[in-house]
Formats: sequence, structure tokens, C-alpha cells
Amino acid sequence: MKFGGTSVGEADCIRRVADIVEPHRRAGDEVALVVSACSGVTDQIIAVADEVVKSKKQPPIGTFLLAMRTRHIRLLGEVAPDYVDEVTAVIDDRLTRLQNILTAVHTLKELTPRSRDYIISFGERLSAPIVSAALRQRAIPSVPLDGAEAGIVTTANHGDARALPASETSIRSRVVPLLAETVPVIMGFMGATEQGVITTLGRSGSDYSAAVIGAGIDADEIWIWTDVDGVMTSDPRVIKDARVLDDISYLEVMELSYFGARVLHPRSVEPAMQKDIPIRVRNTFRPDLPGTLILRDEHQEKRVVKAIALIEKVALVNINGAQMIGRPGVAKTIFSALAEREVNVMLISQGSSEANISLIIDESHLEAAIAALTPIVKQGVVREATYDRDVAAVAVVGAGMAGTPGTGGRIFSALGRAGINTMMISQGSSEVNVSFVVKGGDGKRALQVLHDEFRLSENSDD
Ligand code: ADP
Ligand code: ASP
Ligand code: MG
Repeated sequence: MKFGGTSVGEADCIRRVADIVEPHRRAGDEVALVVSACSGVTDQIIAVADEVVKSKKQPPIGTFLLAMRTRHIRLLGEVAPDYVDEVTAVIDDRLTRLQNILTAVHTLKELTPRSRDYIISFGERLSAPIVSAALRQRAIPSVPLDGAEAGIVTTANHGDARALPASETSIRSRVVPLLAETVPVIMGFMGATEQGVITTLGRSGSDYSAAVIGAGIDADEIWIWTDVDGVMTSDPRVIKDARVLDDISYLEVMELSYFGARVLHPRSVEPAMQKDIPIRVRNTFRPDLPGTLILRDEHQEKRVVKAIALIEKVALVNINGAQMIGRPGVAKTIFSALAEREVNVMLISQGSSEANISLIIDESHLEAAIAALTPIVKQGVVREATYDRDVAAVAVVGAGMAGTPGTGGRIFSALGRAGINTMMISQGSSEVNVSFVVKGGDGKRALQVLHDEFRLSENSDD
């Protein structure tokens, strides 16, 4: 069971976590927990680290640490009064380590990816001992473990590390023996390289931690407890009449999360899929609801389109130049240059005349993309590259689209009637997803138009 930031952000929420775990334990189920930092904490740590490395004056490290201490000790007192002394000592020890490293960053004016990962792992280092103590307060034996102690071995790709296959045996040997006696509370979001250097798995990476741990211990199911009722037909913050899905396939949910449905980290599906472990997304605040079940094959719905996702922080790159026609290797030159600068290409579309390649990338990678492509234009490999920051990408997802003629027509007719112009279209060969790009300001409206067109708020099969 993984509990996200809002599920462990307040005393009431942590008590709910214990309420959820307790009956399972009493029924003899073996449960491992993965927890996030308390809501907002990772953002706050990142903001301070960025300030500390730049600031010429004495940065407010003390004030920040005091606020962190106050919040966590208050939570601890409310959820585990019998363990206040023991766990306060743990929290104070961690805050001292955080203070030392932040002070060093300020002194050296250097924040390497390696030290940054160590620093941003502290949110989970503070939350997990409190959740673990809250379980012990209910007489449920529990131990907190950091991601590395739980056996997550990762690549050295700081800020976006991936679990290595070696994790599986180390998780099995470290976590499984604990399960009969205790409920381990594992700090999400982090792991360590084979050399023991702390890494983090990317923002929202605790979902991925949960999937890696679940696969490592051969869990029967992986449950992601969050603040919505399950995976919905669209982001409920944008689409007010979004509906909870009973079930969805691994591939469909992967497409949705890749396109910004942050209910699940995109990488969290793969470890579960490899072992065919079902994932269930459930609401910590409404634990009586069944949530959404994620499986290999969704039940056969007649509905072709199941859900729609929107990602707003993207940029469009258009590469033009008749020079590309019939010349092998141009695409290789372009993509190698982008890869060297670690630009994440989310969508690709190429005109059949080969005179144009359009790409969608993370907006934060735009500067790197420009740096990668400018020399290629100068060398005359392509005529020009243009960039558009103000765009949004929409993904329409549903396994039923494969082999159902007319879905594309319906999507683009509905957009046309609403006066929304599409700047680029792409369909993966899996046919689980049709994605397109519109002006930034049209993104949310496009989402609503299609949600209405495919009547996704209605429960009946379309
Ligand atoms: P946690 O802190 O539990 O990891 P997140 O905030 O990361 O929670 O993810 C849950 C949020 O994902 C929801 O509050 C919701 O706003 C957002 N979300 C975006 N798209 C979807 C979707 N299709 N279904 C459900 N939630 C979605
Ligand atoms: N605390 C981390 C973050 O905010 C990881 C997570 O919450 O999943 O990104
Ligand atoms: Mg999340």
C-alpha cells in the first residue's frame, strides 16, 4: 500500500492510514507500506535548496528547519503520543543532517545532482518514522526503512533514477522476512546506486517505489491510496463531471500518466505489468469505495474512448527543410543531438514528404533542444527549426480504438465544430492512444469538448 502526500499530510490522515492497515493486519494479511513526504514538503525543500545555493546573504536555513520540525513534531504528538521521545530524537537527528548539508551547499555555492537528491529525500525521511510510530501506537509492530534499506538499487541518473533488475532479489531478501512480524513503512521516492549513493526516482516517484517494492515482494496486489476515488475519465480538477473508472488496462493507464494524469507516476506500471500484479487506485478519505482496478486486459467495454489527459507544460518543435527528402540519417542526427542533451521527446510526427518533422518535448527542455538543433541548422542538415512554447498536448486513450473505424474522425470533427485548431497529430501503432497538440489556451477546452463528445461522464456503454 502506498500513501501519497495528502494521505500523510495531517494527523487525521495518518490516523486513517492506521485505520486502513489495522483490519488487514488483524485478518492476517501481510502488508508493506510505501509513504511519500507530507504534502508540500518536497516542494519546500527544493525551494530552500535552490535559494541556499544562490543566496549571498545568510539564507534562512534555521527558520526553514524550525518550521519543518514544528510541523512534524506536532503530527507525531497527535498520532503517536507514546513514541514522542523516541521519534523526536530520530527527527532531530535527520534535521541536523539536513542542516549540515544545506550549510555546506551555501558555503560551497554548489548543488550537485548528487547532493540535491540526498537533500530532497528528506521529506520521506521525516514522514515515514511518524507513520510507523502511528501504527505502533495501535499495537501494530512496524519498522521504518529508507528506500535503499528496502533494497531499491538504481541507476545513477540523479533526479530521475530507475530501479535496476538487481532490486528484485535485494527487496525480496530485505523486506519479505519482515512481513510476518511487522508492517515495514518504506520511504518512497528514493533508492541508492550499487555504490550506495542516494538517488531519487523523479517527482511523484513514490508510486514507482511502490510498484518496484510490490514486484520485489511478489505482492498479490499493489494499492495506491490517494485523494481521489480512482483513475478518472479525465483530471477532475479540470473536468468537473469526470467519472471514476471501474477498471483500466496497464497500457491505457500508462498512456494517461505519460500525458500528465498525475494520479499515477508513468513508470509505476511496468514493474507491476511484468509480474501481472493488479494495481488498485483508492481514496484514503473514502476507503469504503472499491477504487479503480488496473489489469492486463480491461473488461470488454463497448466504449472506444475511455479517458482523456492533458499536458500543458510542453513545447512544439518544427524541423523543416527539403534537404531531408530521401536522405538517410537526418532523423538520426536530429534525435542523437536531442538525446545527448537529455531532451525528452514525447511525441513525433513526420510528414510523408519527409520535409517536416514535428516534436513535442517537455517545456523545461526547450533551451536544451534549441542548443542541440541550432548547430544542425547551421551545418545545413535541415533548413530551419522553429519553436512554440505556448502549446498543450491532449491524449485520447482507449484500447477499443484499435480496429474501430471513425474514432479519429469523431475526435477532429468535434474539435473543428468547437473552432479548435490542431497543430500536430500523432497516433501510436498500438492504437491505444490518439494524441494531438493545440494552442496552450485551447487545451482545457479541447479536453471538455472530447469528454462531452464521447459522453465520458455517463456510466452506460457508448
Ligand atoms: P498523491 O499525493 O496521493 O500521490 P497526486 O496529487 O500525485 O496524489 O495525484 C492525485 C491527483 O491526480 C488527483 O488529485 C487529481 O487531481 C490528479 N489527476 C489527474 N488526472 C487524473 C485522472 N485521470 N484520474 C484521477 N486523478 C487525476
Ligand atoms: N515526495 C515526492 C514528490 O513530491 C515523491 C512523491 O510524493 O511521490 O515528488
Ligand atoms: Mg502522486
